[in-house]
Amino acid sequence: MMFETWWLLALPLVFGLGWMAARFDLRQLLSEQGALPRSYFKGLNFLLNEQPDQAIDAFIEVARLDPETTELHFALGALFRRRGETERAIRVHQNLATRPDLPEPEREHALFELGQDFLRAGLLDRAEESLRRLMSGPYAASAKRVLLELYEVEKEWQKAIDAARELQTLEQKDYRVQIAQFCCELAQDALQRKRPEDAVEWLKKATQENPANVRAPILLGDVSMAAGDARGALSHWLGIEQLDASYLPLVADRVVKAYAALDEQGQALAWLHELLQGNLAAELLDTAYRTELEVNGPVAAATLMREQLRRQPTLLALTKYFEAQAAQSEGDAGEATDAAPEAQETAAIRDLLQARTRNLARYTCRECGFRARLFYWQCPGCNRWETYAPRRTEALG
Ligand SMILES: [Zn+2]
Repeated sequence: MMFETWWLLALPLVFGLGWMAARFDLRQLLSEQGALPRSYFKGLNFLLNEQPDQAIDAFIEVARLDPETTELHFALGALFRRRGETERAIRVHQNLATRPDLPEPEREHALFELGQDFLRAGLLDRAEESLRRLMSGPYAASAKRVLLELYEVEKEWQKAIDAARELQTLEQKDYRVQIAQFCCELAQDALQRKRPEDAVEWLKKATQENPANVRAPILLGDVSMAAGDARGALSHWLGIEQLDASYLPLVADRVVKAYAALDEQGQALAWLHELLQGNLAAELLDTAYRTELEVNGPVAAATLMREQLRRQPTLLALTKYFEAQAAQSEGDAGEATDAAPEAQETAAIRDLLQARTRNLARYTCRECGFRARLFYWQCPGCNRWETYAPRRTEALG
């Protein structure tokens, strides 16, 4: 009973306090507004009238008169950068960074923003210069992160490795997937410069860094193959099954070529036939079809595709089936000038299906949804690593 009465007394008191607090805030706001220099309203007016350059001038004037308005400048700079107006963002942040009266933390903040503006504007040297001035203090980790992004754009992989390692300790975050990919990039550079020994060293480092990395064995196989060691190449490529079998379709054509070099195409076909029974069938259809056609001819290729249609009916298998049928009737026609009407029909169906399926399958980034015909280790849309599953998804349009 006592408790309830207390509440009845307390309620008006709470309302009263709330009302007072609201009035106090309003008064404070009004007094603050009165203290703002005229240039502030002038700047705001320019901004609203889509005259951003005049607005910047007016706001710089505000900053000169009232050094407390740095937040306003940061907001303005961020706004310009977000709208892609990097030159204006640079002007705002540069003005902040060079102000002698600015306290150290805010100057560092300005340098950090400036580094990002330069990066966005493609002025990579200047971005690096700004960010490298922040290697200690509260912006160290964030600056290092942007620097890492910059090194990736510049393809400075050794610097990227160093930055990622530092970030790993600064942030306690795992960068091993990225570091292994940077090693693979360096290996690929070495291969282009015809330095296979260097490439092998980098690929070993990649595997040490991230034992699950699939790109390293793919490239190691390429090194062996280029050196004429098809057997060695096969052991690298087929070994991917132990790491992650879903990546096997990426090396299917390579495996077929290596078996062909060893004159063991039957082995290649046996390998492909086995995989066609599993869930990688759709990805391997193309390679399987071409290999079967080459080794055993169009009748066998058509039979294989018919089996595949029965197992897993897809538009792609249907297309391949008609490709085989058309190849078969074209082969039967031989030298004859007039193709039989039936053969013409088959060819027409093949063409129609090919046109429909040509752009059907795409790799899709699981982070940003970017769709690509080729497989990428780094997404061209969001620049993240290993975000593409090695599996094409069918989508119309
Ligand atoms: Zn992406």
